[in-house]
Amino acid sequence: MSRFIFLGTGTSNGVPVIGCQCEVCTSSDPRDKRLRCSGYYESNTGTKILIDIGPDFRQQALTHNITRIDGLLITHSHYDHIGGLDEVRQINFIMKKPIDVYGSQESMRDIQNRFSYIFSPTQIGGGIPQISLHPLDEKPFTINDVSIIPLPVWHGKLLIFGYKIGNFAYITDASGIPEETKSKLMNIDTLVINALRYRPHPTHFNIEQALAFVSEVRPQKTYFIHMTDDILHSRTSRELPKNVFLAYDGLTLMIND
Ligand SMILES: [Zn+2]
Ligand SMILES: [Zn+2]
Repeated sequence: MSRFIFLGTGTSNGVPVIGCQCEVCTSSDPRDKRLRCSGYYESNTGTKILIDIGPDFRQQALTHNITRIDGLLITHSHYDHIGGLDEVRQINFIMKKPIDVYGSQESMRDIQNRFSYIFSPTQIGGGIPQISLHPLDEKPFTINDVSIIPLPVWHGKLLIFGYKIGNFAYITDASGIPEETKSKLMNIDTLVINALRYRPHPTHFNIEQALAFVSEVRPQKTYFIHMTDDILHSRTSRELPKNVFLAYDGLTLMIND
């Protein structure tokens, strides 16, 4: 069996939102505390894959004792998904090698621009993360022995990537799913998909749209991520169909390979 840990399940602000006094931001339920979205996949053969590296990565790595990354999959280059990239310095130090980073050509180019100091020969010393970028097209690729299929999805007008690993798929920040991607997800065992809030949003599925997508592809189990402070875990959980769940930070899944 493989294992997947939800390191963070919140939208770009995180929950609680700074300065917000709403019932979710002040909730004492730990499932209403949402760091920025990220996940950690451990294959049954021990390969460890991080999906996205947001600004909360340091805290997430400390909480879950993450000391190894065999590959880092980037869904897209918005700050809440790459803002923690500098923290791989400590993983470099432990693993004594660069971290392989995978994503769309656009995401890889954005990383080169936003983190230009990493690629600049003028800065020397121990302060620079060591990464090697692997731009992807839509073809399957492997990290060690693990085969991964990029899943193009719409994030507003941006085409970004979700990823399918065996019988598990992780999609965040989607507002539309191309037919070809849907066909790769039909009857999958475990689907992770974003569901922002109740009201519609131009670049993210809301709860209703995420549920409509679930009823099209019919996964065995579905977990929602990238949620705002619109979602009180205990209340929304009760309203969902029986095979659909709200993920929460620290939730760990065992996946049938
Ligand atoms: Zn996001
Ligand atoms: Zn985004």
